[in-house]
Amino acid sequence: MTRTPVFGGNWKMHLDLNEAIALAGELRNRLGSHRGAEILIFPSAPFLRPVVERLRDCAIAVGGQDLHFETKGAFTGATAPAMLTSVGCTHALIGHSERRHVFGDDDATVARKLTAALNEGLVPVLCVGETIEERRAGQTFVVIERQLASALAGHDTAALSALIVAYEPVWAIGTGETASPAQAQEVHAFIREWLSDNLGDPFAQATRIQYGGSVKADNVDGLMTEKDIDGALIGGASLKVDDFTRIVRFERP
Ligand code: PEP
Repeated sequence: MTRTPVFGGNWKMHLDLNEAIALAGELRNRLGSHRGAEILIFPSAPFLRPVVERLRDCAIAVGGQDLHFETKGAFTGATAPAMLTSVGCTHALIGHSERRHVFGDDDATVARKLTAALNEGLVPVLCVGETIEERRAGQTFVVIERQLASALAGHDTAALSALIVAYEPVWAIGTGETASPAQAQEVHAFIREWLSDNLGDPFAQATRIQYGGSVKADNVDGLMTEKDIDGALIGGASLKVDDFTRIVRFERP
């Protein structure tokens, strides 16, 4: 089964409007007609619309960094799923570790957000990953299994057909410490096996699993040699056009 690699740039809470539009323009020039991989960009909410416009009719899709599970109401500061689609988003990060660990999104909240994204026709990029304490306690697979089971419960393969999973060990995000290709592959293989056991092997073989956690231009090639690593979710390096371009144009020996 060949899976098209998928790379996401998570701009987090960085840039101002001019910088966001300029970066989108540079990405358009460098990667706008790239064919070797699918490319997703997750700007901050205020910049979604101008970035969508800058990337119109090119091969780079835009997504929200988060969404609320309700469709509307008195939820100050939150973004409804339909708000994302109304400005041209096609994807959404769900359960990013900063949402889980900084903002306190628990498994139940992440599950509701995933359902809300699916209901709105957004492609969810479901982020899962263990903390360093959980890894040291030998709990990595237990945590990943709990996060997958909770988020995907009640959805069938038709509803989840476009799902992307991102394995992002919390200890590797923004720390400069990357999981080794072998460490990442071990968890990716576990995720694929879990998907196979719970949603069937054809679904598991077709689903892309990204790695995230300090992916850089100089470590992407090693990660992409692993058979269950289908791309990356990139924070810091996605703000530098040369680095992000090199990552998307990874080389396999
Ligand atoms: C992320 O934000 O999902 C991420 C992986 O960040 P970084 O690449 O900076 O570790």
